[in-house]
Amino acid sequence: MMKNYLFLVSSLFALLLLSCNQTRSVDLSEIDPGRYDSTWYNRAPLRHIQTNLREIDADMDVDTYIQALVDASASVVTFNTGGIRAFYPTKLPYHYKSPYLKGDLVGEVIEKFHENGIKFIARFDMSKVHESIAEIHPDWLYVGTDGKVVNYNGEVHTCITGAYQQEYAFKIMDEALSAYPVDGVFFNNAGFTTRDYSEIEHGLCQCDNCRNGFRNAKGLDLPVEADLNDPVYREYRAWQQDVIAAHTKHIKDYFKALDPGLVYFNHEGDIVRSESGTSFTSQDYWTYHGTENTKKVLNSNKYQMPSDTYNYLLGMDYRHTATSPNIGRIFLTEHMLNGGSPGIYFIGRIENQLDRESIPGIKELFGFHKTHEKLFTNVESLAKVALVMGASRDYRGIIRLLTEEHINYDLIQGEALGSDRLPRQLGSYDVIILSNVTEMDAKTTALIDGYVENGGRLLVTGHTGISLGNPLQSIGVTVEAQIYPRTKSTYLKVDESDKNVLGQEQFQDFDVILMNSDFLKCVPGPGAKAYMKLVPNTMHGPPEKCYFTDSDVSSFPGMVVNEFGQGKSVYFPWQIGSQYNWRGNNAHRALFLSSLETLLNFENHLITDASPLIEMTHLGNLNGAFEWLGLINHSGQIGNVFREPVPIYETKIRFKTLNPVERIYLLRSGETLNFNQNDGWVECTVPEVDDFEMVLCLNN
Ligand SMILES: [Zn+2]
Repeated sequence: MMKNYLFLVSSLFALLLLSCNQTRSVDLSEIDPGRYDSTWYNRAPLRHIQTNLREIDADMDVDTYIQALVDASASVVTFNTGGIRAFYPTKLPYHYKSPYLKGDLVGEVIEKFHENGIKFIARFDMSKVHESIAEIHPDWLYVGTDGKVVNYNGEVHTCITGAYQQEYAFKIMDEALSAYPVDGVFFNNAGFTTRDYSEIEHGLCQCDNCRNGFRNAKGLDLPVEADLNDPVYREYRAWQQDVIAAHTKHIKDYFKALDPGLVYFNHEGDIVRSESGTSFTSQDYWTYHGTENTKKVLNSNKYQMPSDTYNYLLGMDYRHTATSPNIGRIFLTEHMLNGGSPGIYFIGRIENQLDRESIPGIKELFGFHKTHEKLFTNVESLAKVALVMGASRDYRGIIRLLTEEHINYDLIQGEALGSDRLPRQLGSYDVIILSNVTEMDAKTTALIDGYVENGGRLLVTGHTGISLGNPLQSIGVTVEAQIYPRTKSTYLKVDESDKNVLGQEQFQDFDVILMNSDFLKCVPGPGAKAYMKLVPNTMHGPPEKCYFTDSDVSSFPGMVVNEFGQGKSVYFPWQIGSQYNWRGNNAHRALFLSSLETLLNFENHLITDASPLIEMTHLGNLNGAFEWLGLINHSGQIGNVFREPVPIYETKIRFKTLNPVERIYLLRSGETLNFNQNDGWVECTVPEVDDFEMVLCLNN
């Protein structure tokens, strides 16, 4: 009876609280987000659509095309202009015009884009020429190791070292860019391409330009096999990098000399274009692809803006079939709620897709972004953890761990460490995680050691700092630089003394931890403390022999903890992230969390009972006008199948805010939210997270 009575009271109380949340649309008119810099694109609310036109699209009805883009709220559109096909009436003899072109398509489109406030990004692709041009200019072509050129559907591969890409490409751009007021340029597919669209490998280019270029630079004959054990091939790889770097610089310098305001769209450009999607050749699906591609630009370079595009198409071999609408929804919300720009890439146009199921959902999300675009302006992540990406994909497992545990993080590219392009000082992070960053120069190593010396906390995995012979001092080990290679049935032994440090409760059920990673043998230095021991390659068959004894346990530690100056470090001489990405093992998660929270005393600024299926972000406006939490519901994923997400109810959140908060709105559900505020922390309950939610905090 008493129980029922209490239930009734608590239900009434819950009802009362719920009824206080009201549905009222937020008025954003008073908000002034300010500007990040003087450009139109950086930390600005872009909505990018790339329509990769086929030659047959040249006879499009322009007004219908524009209307579809306007209906989808596009603000930036990448439009085929020249290269493989010219979509304008070119006068150049070796620039192949689309046979379907009637008038001046580029001229008409660009005028109407600008009338509708859409930026025009001119797309060029110089990687192939029409076979009629190839016949006249065999000196422009790629030559495979069989001595033959590659003709794919009548388009012949060109070589980056030939005069087409090195010189004629610039004549084409001269013609197009002087005729049309384009806002930016996207230059596709520059580099040494050896495969065709059927994934057939044609080998290292053997054209005369490559032959002469390599001989002049290195005094060597071209290799035929891509064999890293061959010193000639290693020289060839270095030469390739030089050629690509020089060509990229040539293109960049050319654009900037032509018009400093012209925006360069490329992986090294002003706007960094990348792609998230499904792969036809792999069953692996990377849930946080949109997040990774967005964060790694925003958090590494204050001058660059990411434009990750969700690939509408299923794969390169199935260009006319779309992915599940729920995949698009996930990538677009990852772009938005990490402070980037939602983007999408179609083959053909929006209005002539053969698989249209995903289009309404995309329009709806782009529309959401447009309605709330002030809230995506001039924002920066409020993360207290920086994850530095190394060469391997160890960092992806750490992304999983941090996301599942709702620890907000920034993602920094290894080469950006120590550069003045970094948006935030390293000292502004409570913890830095170096994820198998093998190649660190002495300057970067000193920078990280300095961070720890001044009180910073460091978590290091794998072979960080080893390759170039600049080991970190702060991790407190002598590295023998001997790797115990990955072997089956290898473990870390967890003793009582380890559990006393890592946490008896968390480790009560684990006496061993799975180890399927290369392992660096290291010896703790004076003062450093070593935990857990490697038990390599134990017997795993027959069942009668599946055991190990004390004599099988090595002396090599699985974790070293070191105090350095005023700071502290935890070192895993193996890749804990790769391990978690591989199997999602609970002991690995417990170990990661203990090292972060117990050993490094990290205090999260966001405490929640949210499901691990909710990805959370926290960003603030640099003008101080607002801050918000982003919540993305990943519950629709079942392996490689993506269904509707299941609504998640009553998510409690307690978080530290930048400024005192006056009002909180839920932008997806349209409700105002009741909350408590105490000592810089806000507490609230989000009644329902459907596909995603944005918890907007205003301070007036
Ligand atoms: Zn070549």
